[in-house]
Amino acid sequence: MTRTVPLLDLKAQFATIREEVLAAVTGVLESQVCINGPLVEELERAIAARSGCRFGVGVSSGTDALLDTLMALGVGAGCEVITTPFTFFATAGCIHRAGARAVFVDIEPDTYLIDPSRIEAAITERTRAILPVHLYGQPCDMDAIGAIARRHGLFVVEDAAQSIGATRGGVPCGGFAESTACCFSFFPSKNLGAAGDGGMIVTNDAALHDRMKLLRNHGAHEKYFHDEVGANFRLDALQAAVLLAKLPKLDEWSRRRRENAAYYDSRFQGTAVVPPTIRDGCVSAVNQYVVRVPNRDGVKAKLAARGVASEIYYPRPLHLQRCFEYLGYREGDLPHAGRAAREVLALPVFPELAPQDLEYVADAVLACAG
Ligand SMILES: *Cc1c(COP(=O)(O)O)cnc(C)c1O
Repeated sequence: MTRTVPLLDLKAQFATIREEVLAAVTGVLESQVCINGPLVEELERAIAARSGCRFGVGVSSGTDALLDTLMALGVGAGCEVITTPFTFFATAGCIHRAGARAVFVDIEPDTYLIDPSRIEAAITERTRAILPVHLYGQPCDMDAIGAIARRHGLFVVEDAAQSIGATRGGVPCGGFAESTACCFSFFPSKNLGAAGDGGMIVTNDAALHDRMKLLRNHGAHEKYFHDEVGANFRLDALQAAVLLAKLPKLDEWSRRRRENAAYYDSRFQGTAVVPPTIRDGCVSAVNQYVVRVPNRDGVKAKLAARGVASEIYYPRPLHLQRCFEYLGYREGDLPHAGRAAREVLALPVFPELAPQDLEYVADAVLACAG
């Protein structure tokens, strides 16, 4: 029997939280407090507390969380920021937009995360920050990255867009001792998704928090009085209301993602389909379940013919994007990222997947990769 299994089914999720979300949206419409306001502040407190941080700053997207953070840190023209080439575009796009230069360091082939042992060689006198990305839901080695940052006096800005709720050594993203600030995305496909765009920055630094809030609102300390040039990075109250309504479910959703991942892991063990490596002490948020397969594009097409959706995160590493040609990287540089871009495939892992769908996907992947 042929089934159709989507990569993500947000309608199925909505069906489980329909009443709460509709009530939350109605509340905002009745109040007509649409920008900032008490719901945004409540969400800021809730996300900060969950992340083990003192402060939260609600912003318009994960992208703007990164940009607001870099601007608030004064990381701009003449500065270099070390990051991974194997991530969503926004990570490096924000470094460029802040006016700084992205310096890419290759990934670990088994976790797809930035390789801390290669970071120090990339540091120059212009380096101001390290921007690790907790890709697919797994936290990077923050002990190693934090130690390097401390030795060289660098900021650490976490891109946790895919990893809200993930922990390493029991510490959640945002709560690591050496983290300057941590950026989350509420894009609908993230573990905690808004009904549109949204993001959040968490930090323990009070002065940085003030500055991020200032820049979020065109640099105005008081309406129409501007200390500096910021932007409109504000979070809508409607999005905050939807997110607050969904937040109580987040841990359960992430737990189910991990259960689904564990099922796939057991099915793929010892086959040509290589499951993701999760390091000891890490609890992944499993925003994506990504395997490495030979003949990836062929497998993807065969899966589609069997009704199984899959996706490639990401088909071209950032150091080889046309817009970053000026950085001077070439095909063959950062080979682990290049190989990952050719071999990875994300499979459906969303919390509402039925057991029969999981089994169907695993069978199909094994048949198509065999
Ligand atoms: C989604 C994502 C972003 C950007 O978040 P938006 O809310 O879509 O702007 C940044 N970095 C990573 C790794 C992401 O996955």
